[in-house]
Amino acid sequence: MTVIGIDLGTTNSCVAVLEDGSPKVIANRVGYKTTPSVVAVTANGKRVVGQIASRQAITNPEHTIHAAKRLIGRKFDDEAVQSTMQHVSYQIAPGPYGDVRVVLRGKQYSIPEISAILLQEMRVVAEEHLGHEVERAVVTVPAYFNDNQRQAVRDAGLIAGLQVLRIINEPTAAAIAYGFHRNTDKVIAVYDMGGGTFDVSIVKVTRNGTFSVLSTTGDSFLGGEDFDERIMAWLIRGFEVQRKVDLRRSPIALQRLKQAAQKAKCELSTLDRTEIRLPFIVSSGPTGPLNMHYAITRPQFEKLTADLVKRSLVICQKAIAAAKLTVDDVDEVILVGGMTRMPAVQAQVEDFFKRKPCKGVHPDEVVALGAAIQGSALADEIEAIDLEDVTAHSLGIATAGDHFDVIIPANTGVPVRVPSLFTTHRDNQDALKIVVLQGESEKASENTLLQDFFVRGLREAKAGEVEVEVAFTIDDDGIFSVSAKDLETGEETRIEVNADSGLDAEEIQQMADESSAFLEERRAEEAAERLRQGVEALVAEVERLSEQAEEVAADDPMAALTISHAENAAAQAKRALEENSRSSLAEHLVMLEDAKAMIEKIVHRGAN
Ligand code: AMP
Repeated sequence: MTVIGIDLGTTNSCVAVLEDGSPKVIANRVGYKTTPSVVAVTANGKRVVGQIASRQAITNPEHTIHAAKRLIGRKFDDEAVQSTMQHVSYQIAPGPYGDVRVVLRGKQYSIPEISAILLQEMRVVAEEHLGHEVERAVVTVPAYFNDNQRQAVRDAGLIAGLQVLRIINEPTAAAIAYGFHRNTDKVIAVYDMGGGTFDVSIVKVTRNGTFSVLSTTGDSFLGGEDFDERIMAWLIRGFEVQRKVDLRRSPIALQRLKQAAQKAKCELSTLDRTEIRLPFIVSSGPTGPLNMHYAITRPQFEKLTADLVKRSLVICQKAIAAAKLTVDDVDEVILVGGMTRMPAVQAQVEDFFKRKPCKGVHPDEVVALGAAIQGSALADEIEAIDLEDVTAHSLGIATAGDHFDVIIPANTGVPVRVPSLFTTHRDNQDALKIVVLQGESEKASENTLLQDFFVRGLREAKAGEVEVEVAFTIDDDGIFSVSAKDLETGEETRIEVNADSGLDAEEIQQMADESSAFLEERRAEEAAERLRQGVEALVAEVERLSEQAEEVAADDPMAALTISHAENAAAQAKRALEENSRSSLAEHLVMLEDAKAMIEKIVHRGAN
């Protein structure tokens, strides 16, 4: 059974599969190898995904969700969520657990639900190509995703009804794709800047097929969206000064600005200057309709975003230091993610690492390819991959005086289990409170709270006499769990660290049921489209062959009858296509195939 590899990106998603021992990216229905990570609900309540959703965004801005990955696993009051709210045209609302919800046509959706819709779309793209259903996948996440974000992606997999065999880090997947069958011993740096997140990993690849991640770090809020927002903010400011109109108030204007900013950014990767023309950006108002027309040069754009590129290089420096290496130890630099097409990014990365980045890796496809390779290895279709990854964040507990006691430091190899001993600090203390945090600050209050819980029922004794063992575990997916054991009674409690993912098991099940119904609908739609395309192609083929047959068998009355039957079958099929009746299309397909076979015989006879 095939395992697909899905790169669930902020801007675009990509799916790959291993075929005849080589990983291959699968193109979607419209022929593109990546699919926009966009979900929308149209005015008549239809859910649309990918290119179709992206195309209708301008006319349906309030009900079109893009860049949902920036919100996944975050709290509503998170700074990143609040800042996203300023720039998006759709509505973001607080969920029942302080999590984030988006609103589409009055219905609230959790972010894992939106991500599940995207996962499912990629699954249908793969099924279309393979011609059979797919149940299993390896899904990638930014290496810098914290536990809440990973949990939320796992929930998305459950909602999509996919068996996610493994969640792997995007730069690690890229390293796997790079090293697969390459027979080389190298230390590589993966610089991965996508639409929403930035990761850098230093990976040792060996000719024996081992992949050891030496360090990984990043910023889960640094990516193409920030570059777009800089152009948007520049346009909004300029317009406000010149025309005294605040465009932030109009969702349609925001959506158009967003698309124009992204387009200009991409154009500036190949051009020195580009124009942004948005007619009727204000359609009415005291000043009447207003157009926008600005020109932006590459140096201007680079100035607007210089600090973002610089921020990524500071992170590279951290990764090198954490790997206990210098830039001279890096043999190869791999650029991953659409943002690495920006010339200033390429130039500065080259400057930093003192070498030209590797050319042979496709920045949009390499992550999905690596996920597909890992998927096949986990399904025992190819040799196992000897992979050692690391955790990007430190995990520990809060102690008195707002201190953070690290138990698993960042860049520790995973999977890992680390037990630690805790004792009571008061006489007759019968419970211990454990506050689990993730982050890099020495101050407990500045880190992310993962879980707080009590170990209860301890024997009443003098302070320090009773010992509790608390074990931190990170599994192969980079997902964290904690267990506590009273060493006197031997009683163990496993504490699920999922309080913050925002969904409980019942809700996930309910969403999974809805999602499965939608999948069936989606598959049926896909089958109908395939049928339609098949009939269209056959009609064209029968018409072409009929013309040829008329030329070669003009004087044969039997042939003339067959040709007329065939032409009739094509004409009827055309009418059925116009009426779009699925059951009759299936019948026409059979009739057209018969007509084609008969008429081909006439053409062949004539040719001989
Ligand atoms: P990814 O998540 O890897 O698909 O990266 C998508 C990001 O790359 C988006 O922010 C795109 O706007 C950006 N991007 C794609 N192509 C280009 C390009 N030619 N120049 C600059 N940025 C690009």
